[in-house]
Amino acid sequence: MLILIPQQAAEKVRSLGSWGRLSLRINDPEQFAVVRGLSQQGQAIFPVEPSPEHRLLASYPAVSTGWWLSVSPDLHLMWLALMARRGTSLTLDAFRAAVPSGYKAPGAPGYLAITHAPGLKDAYPEHGLPDLLAWHVTPGGAQPIAVSVEPDITGIRQLDDHWPVHELQSKRIMLVGAGSIGSATAHALAGYGIGSLTLIDPDRLAWHNLVRHTSARKHIGRHKVTALAEELTALRPDTKVAAHALDVIEHADRIRALLTDTNLVVCAADGVAARRVTGHLARRAGLTAVLACVLEGGALGEILRLRPWPHHGCLTCQRHNLADAGGLDPEPTLDAGYGTGTTHRPMTAVGTDLHLIAHLAAKTAVATLLERAGHPDQRLPGEHALLGLRRQPDWAPPFDLDRTAELRWLDATPPRTGCPTCETP
Ligand SMILES: [Zn+2]
Repeated sequence: MLILIPQQAAEKVRSLGSWGRLSLRINDPEQFAVVRGLSQQGQAIFPVEPSPEHRLLASYPAVSTGWWLSVSPDLHLMWLALMARRGTSLTLDAFRAAVPSGYKAPGAPGYLAITHAPGLKDAYPEHGLPDLLAWHVTPGGAQPIAVSVEPDITGIRQLDDHWPVHELQSKRIMLVGAGSIGSATAHALAGYGIGSLTLIDPDRLAWHNLVRHTSARKHIGRHKVTALAEELTALRPDTKVAAHALDVIEHADRIRALLTDTNLVVCAADGVAARRVTGHLARRAGLTAVLACVLEGGALGEILRLRPWPHHGCLTCQRHNLADAGGLDPEPTLDAGYGTGTTHRPMTAVGTDLHLIAHLAAKTAVATLLERAGHPDQRLPGEHALLGLRRQPDWAPPFDLDRTAELRWLDATPPRTGCPTCETP
């Protein structure tokens, strides 16, 4: 059995004095319970606010089933010792001795008790014991029960001491494309603690997307951005998500307007045209664009970081420069719609391979922002990353990755004369 104590219930127990009644919702099959209400001594039970995450328990009635008791800190030390030896229990006399007032003798079925040890930190500063614990008290003795008290902070700020949460919470990233790579990129960016995401994708979630997308089946028929925004809000509430069912080519003007308060753009859209337009809009707005895709039927993952710098060329310039150097343009046939046409090789990558690229794209985006914000430890090895998802030794350089999971970083290539994206208008 595990007893969950929501923050509001914990605060009440800590402030109400010596003892009171306890009401729980108990999920018997899964053996856990949540505190639903409590009283001050023998008065009426008042409800504590149910946390949304405890809706799972809403179908179970709240039962007045026990007591909360203020106890001496020694009892919590004993709880720890008993927990280490499964199946052991404390004698009823020893339990009673630790309860200064409000002790209740158990009937045959026993009762559940939450104990609060107010002086715990002073008595045992080194143990890190919780001040709230739980017991099953029966005529045979008191058995320890696991508890989990809702902490003050459950979100990204928990990582404040280890990760520049504060800086990332003030940043906005625009993500163009909310498909298989895009949806996983959105989750990864939120996981890094990006404060605001703007999602751009005109498509709706269809059955065939489910195998690679992060969204659940129940969202079929909805815009991908809407479903993704809803799921992210539930999972990572520290990231504010704005969803726009827009096409980056057709609605370029509206997207340009959205770039004014954006710090960086990530493009995970299918098709060369969408990638080129995204790169163009970002460069015109003076923003770095991170382009993520898979090539050669999912054999190769690619991340391109296009910075609006004089010596960094756009996607088109980069591809031309590669071809001029004896390489190949891996994208000329990718203009056809997703999974259509005979010249276009349908994407054959498995979802998790695509998510691997998504996570590398998110890392690239976040590292770019952090390096600029004064974190030199986030500097990347280059501007163009290739990740082998299946070995590809026969491709022309630089795509000739010999090994699966090989990661190759290359430098930026310069702009070409006359490029409408790279040259200042
Ligand atoms: Zn260019």
